[in-house]
Order: sequence, then structure tokens, then C-alpha cells
Amino acid sequence: MKILSNVFLNQKKLTVTNKKIATMLIAMFAVHAAASNAACNGYVGITFDDGPTSNTTTLINLLKQNSLTPVTWFNWGQHVASNPSLIPQELGVGEVQNHSYTHPHMANFTYQQVSSELSQDNQAIQNAGAPKPKIYRAPYGELNSTIRQAAADLGLFAMTWDIDSADWNGASTAAIVSANNQLQNGQVILMHDGIINTNNAIAQIAANLRAKNLCPGRIDPTNGRAIAPSGSGGSSSSSSSGGGGTGTITVRARGTSGQEQIQLVVNNTTVATWTLSTSYQNFTVNNSATSGILVKFINDATNRDVQVDYIIAGGVTKQAEDQTFNTGVFQSGACGGGNGHSEWLNCNGAIGF
Ligand SMILES: [Zn+2]
Repeated sequence: MKILSNVFLNQKKLTVTNKKIATMLIAMFAVHAAASNAACNGYVGITFDDGPTSNTTTLINLLKQNSLTPVTWFNWGQHVASNPSLIPQELGVGEVQNHSYTHPHMANFTYQQVSSELSQDNQAIQNAGAPKPKIYRAPYGELNSTIRQAAADLGLFAMTWDIDSADWNGASTAAIVSANNQLQNGQVILMHDGIINTNNAIAQIAANLRAKNLCPGRIDPTNGRAIAPSGSGGSSSSSSSGGGGTGTITVRARGTSGQEQIQLVVNNTTVATWTLSTSYQNFTVNNSATSGILVKFINDATNRDVQVDYIIAGGVTKQAEDQTFNTGVFQSGACGGGNGHSEWLNCNGAIGF
């Protein structure tokens, strides 16, 4: 469907001079964003298993140098017990989580055996000064109902990964970089602490993610998905290098075809453009605005419609169907023809929050 929303009319009224200034401002903002991590199209989970090791300090320095933080460490309990002083260093660049105490194959373990492995690792990690783990990554990716139950009873979400870098299996630095390049918003990659090819991949992984405005995130302990760093991770990890922290805007939306594009416009400035999939996804940027926020559908065509579930701005959830400003929903025979109160954008137009 076709309609010129008020937003578009306003844009057309811009003079050439104003457009140039606007372009310059956007370019300046982009430079700032690249430097400070201000704009994130999404978050990915950068994870390292099996540490701490004699390599941990080197790896942490590489992560810091390349601003590839925060990361998640899935620590091997025996290694924690022999290197407890490395845990505070790990906490300085991320979160420390559970990867079992002796790293055994557990598919045939009893509930008690699994529980013992996981609780011993929790104890070693906490003894070294880290908060109680909330996530368990299964060695070898071996999960079953017994393992999941034992983990859940210890307050641990059991997970594996979305993408395996295969660094444990001799993958080249280029292959590790390439695996990381497949990461999409919310996904988590498996890497390891103690592998030289992984160390050598860090700079390029960071550069590639930055080019796509994908930011390292923490892992949500309720579902194993990568999300924005909260800045409230652990007692020792007071600094979140993700920037912002409290000031984020999250948009939850999907499209009917998976080709729909939306933009987040804050106080008349476009701060992000996202392509939707047919399933709901959360898109997050670092921005402290709590009003003057538009979610705008920009590429309407046959069979394309956008459904916006809600946004979260300044920590407050605002449902799309509670908003009266909606120039993109088809109501009363026209785009934006009614009083809003809809999750839908059937035409190019915006929901105002
Ligand atoms: Zn492992």
C-alpha cells in the first residue's frame, strides 16, 4: 500500500542545504558510534570454554585492545581451582559461568553424578570471587533430560551454542574469523581459551562485528540468547565496556515476508535500520531517549506487513497497541486512517512512542 506519512512529508520539505548538514551530522554520529559502541544493530555472544589457562591473560589483553567485550567464560572447575587469581581478570571483561568440574562425557551419568560435577564447578567459581553462575554450557554439547534437570535444580540454564568455531579441532585463524562472521543478532559462538589461532582471530572478529554494528553482549540466563550488556553483571565486573548500560531502546518486531525493513527514529534522527525475519526478534540500540521515538516501516510492497510487539525505552515497556500515533496501520479504509491502537504497520508509516 502507498501513503506518504507525515514523517516523509517533513523529510521532503528539507532543503538541499539542510540535507547536507543532516548528512554531515549523521556521518559525525557514525564516527562517534564506531568509537564508543553507541549504535548496536544487535548483540552476539562471544564465549570461551575450558579456562582459565596460561593463555587467559594474553586473551584478555587482546579482547581489551580490540574492545571485544563483554565475553562469557565457561570455566572448567579444576582449572579454576588451580588458577583462582585469573577469575577477577576474567570478570573484568565479562561473566564467568559453569562448564563442569572435570569436563567429562556425561550422557550416561546419573542425576547425582551430574549434580556433583556442576555444583563443584559453581563452588570453585564462587570461591574465586565470582557471582554464582546462572548458565551451564555442556562439555561436548552433550545435553539430555537428566543433565538439564540437574542444572535447573542448581539454578543453571543449560545450553550449547549456535555456531561452533571448531577452534578445538584445529580450525585456521581464517576459519575462526569466518565462523564468527556468520553470527546474527542473539546468537552465540563457541570458542576456547588456550588456542593460538583463536587469539590471532580476535582483531579481525572485532573489526567484522563493528562493521556490521553487531556488539558483544551478555547471555540471557533464561534462554541462552545474546542480549545487551546490563552493566549489572557481577560484583567485580563493575565496568561494562558496551557503553550506555541503562540507556537502551529495544524494539521487538517481525515481518510477514521476512523482507520488511524498519527504522528506529529518535527525535527526528534515524538511529538504526533493521531487516526483520518472520519470527519476533529484539533489536537494541544504546540511546537514552524515552519519548520522541518512531518505529518506521520503510519498504512496503505486496505481502509485506510489519508487526511491532513493543519497545522498551529507559527500562519501560511500551506496547504498540497502546499507542494512538500510527500512520502505517490500515484502518477505516486508509493507511493511518483510524486511531492507532494496533501492532500492525500495513503501509509505510510509523508508530510513535
Ligand atoms: Zn569444554
